[in-house]
Amino acid sequence: PPLYKQRYQFIQDLVGKYKPKKVADLGCADCTLLWMLKFCSCIEVLAGLDICASVMKENMHRLSPLPGDYLQPAERSLTVTLYHGSVAHKDPCMLGFDLVTCIELIEHLEQSELEKFPEVVFGFMAPSIVVISTPNSEFNPLLPGVTLFRHPDHKFEWNRVQFQSWALETARGYDYAVEFTGVGHPPTGMENVGFCTQIGVFVRKYPQTSESAWSEKPPEAVYKTVFKAVY
Ligand code: SAM
Repeated sequence: PPLYKQRYQFIQDLVGKYKPKKVADLGCADCTLLWMLKFCSCIEVLAGLDICASVMKENMHRLSPLPGDYLQPAERSLTVTLYHGSVAHKDPCMLGFDLVTCIELIEHLEQSELEKFPEVVFGFMAPSIVVISTPNSEFNPLLPGVTLFRHPDHKFEWNRVQFQSWALETARGYDYAVEFTGVGHPPTGMENVGFCTQIGVFVRKYPQTSESAWSEKPPEAVYKTVFKAVY
């Protein structure tokens, strides 16, 4: 299957394993992953965030309940909300999530946004699990036509040592453990380049106490709600 499907499948498998009730997808783009996740019966709250409102709106109707969802109401309730905003800013609507996914997001962030990202995601949102995927630049020589970066909007592409040192430092700073994996196997004989997409799975080490979650006054809401569906 194409690489993006392997990334989404990786998240679906993780949802099957950990059964999170509340999942947020940061940099959700055209909401394909959210659309897949709405069929996971453990999930009760789904949220998407993107800095580009138009890309989110392209296919967001797919997140609306179908007539069958009303005729045969499910046991669980499901709320899907899309927000317009940046991962460089904190908003109270992102509190209380179990799983936060950032699929092919960080390489699109400007240096100043990337510097704020750990405090927003790990410090403030502080979900039990964070998944971050990003290109592995060591794989690039195997991709036809890729000279500098895989996509013109990428601000950087990291090799495994670069990604893993950033991830380990971030995990250490916010009391998470991180494990590395990936999707997109290299061809036989080229195993030394690693996966095409590198993935870090961060798990919070200590359960969050209500104190640590609310010790600070929550910030003002800055994200704009662009879509909401209640099943
Ligand atoms: N996660 C999706 C996927 O895997 O198919 C889309 C990845 S797309 C390559 C990166 C997305 O991140 C774009 O939709 C872009 O608008 C969004 N993005 C870039 N900077 C952002 C920011 N500061 N805050 C939120 N989203 C951002």
